[in-house]
Amino acid sequence: MTDVTNGEYDAFLDALAEGEGYYLVCENEHGLLPPRRACPHCGDRELTERDLPKSGEIVTHTTVFVPTPQFEDDAPYVTAVADFDGVRLTGVVRGIAQEDVAIGDHVTATVESNETADERTIVFRPTE
Ligand SMILES: [Zn+2]
Repeated sequence: MTDVTNGEYDAFLDALAEGEGYYLVCENEHGLLPPRRACPHCGDRELTERDLPKSGEIVTHTTVFVPTPQFEDDAPYVTAVADFDGVRLTGVVRGIAQEDVAIGDHVTATVESNETADERTIVFRPTE
């Protein structure tokens, strides 16, 4: 189920790639990321845009050895969920050795191509 068009997701990736990531928040302070039209928690459609914090914190991570076809040449790689002041993004971790990725690591979200399909993907790099 998705209520986000590819155009809206592309616009979000464009902003993130420019270092101007944002997220949406509903009237009940539920953070929405990636952006969507209605809050999945309460159905609210009065959404406000806020700047995505520059730095987030890894809350879970997984090393992927058997990837989906579009990430074949990238494997093994680490995917992680990072928390940015209460909103969470999933991305691929780069710039940290796989065995060194840890919960609590501070990362910055950006957009890079994956090696297999040259598709844009959300990437986390260590916060400078
Ligand atoms: Zn809500």
